[in-house]
Amino acid sequence: MSENDLTHPGGKLRLFVGAPLWQGACVVPDDQQTHYLLHVMRARAGDRVSLFNGADGEWLARLTGVSKRSCSLECEHKIAPQAEVPDVWLCFAPIKKTPADYLVQKATELGVRVLQPVFTRRTIVARVNLERMRANAVEAAEQSGRLGVPETREPLTFDKLLAAWPKDRRLIFCDEGGDAQPIAQALASELDQPFAIFTGPEGGFDPAEHEALRSRPFVVAVSLGPRILRADTAALAALAVWQAVRGDWR
Ligand code: SAH
Repeated sequence: MSENDLTHPGGKLRLFVGAPLWQGACVVPDDQQTHYLLHVMRARAGDRVSLFNGADGEWLARLTGVSKRSCSLECEHKIAPQAEVPDVWLCFAPIKKTPADYLVQKATELGVRVLQPVFTRRTIVARVNLERMRANAVEAAEQSGRLGVPETREPLTFDKLLAAWPKDRRLIFCDEGGDAQPIAQALASELDQPFAIFTGPEGGFDPAEHEALRSRPFVVAVSLGPRILRADTAALAALAVWQAVRGDWR
């Protein structure tokens, strides 16, 4: 039986698991992961996958105890030490389903640490599917080589977000109003501190929200250029600039 290394660079199969990982640890994947391994990837005993859990680094694990409907993964050796993504949050007004899936996946690939949905006056979606958000984040973390998954938080109202804002964190307010400073310039001049990026819904922030944001000392209003970007585009563009200027793209 040829031992198939499913982690070869092309088909690097990585699984996010909840279990602690150490030499010899035996991890039982969840039903969905088991189905994927056995029936989609047709993995066999002896095949290897990478495991990570957000705390113990990345481990090469060997498939063992394979039966029709179950298997387990035995950690053989650590292949990467745990590493954190830079401390940037994305606060975003929830948007329609497809772009929301896209936004969560791309923000995860772009290294966001926290995803915070915020209901603003012009938000048109009534609820956020956190399960779906988490599943998109896990999938994107596995694909992108991250060693952890972004924290996907319960939605907050706009007022609650500002009232409970951690004062040591700067809030980058993406303001399409046109009179804010360019984002790269704004970020370059900030001190070394944690950040969050805040983008509005399809209809933008309303005047009262603009006013409330501009009046807070921890808020930095920035422009993302002369064109009006869709909400998902704006969030990802701002994240990309943040990573390039202050994150781990330097
Ligand atoms: N009110 C706009 C649409 C808002 S776009 C209109 O229809 O004219 C959705 C969000 O993306 C905005 O709330 C803002 O946070 C962000 N955004 C879009 N384009 C931007 C720009 N050029 N500069 C800064 N933020 C922008």
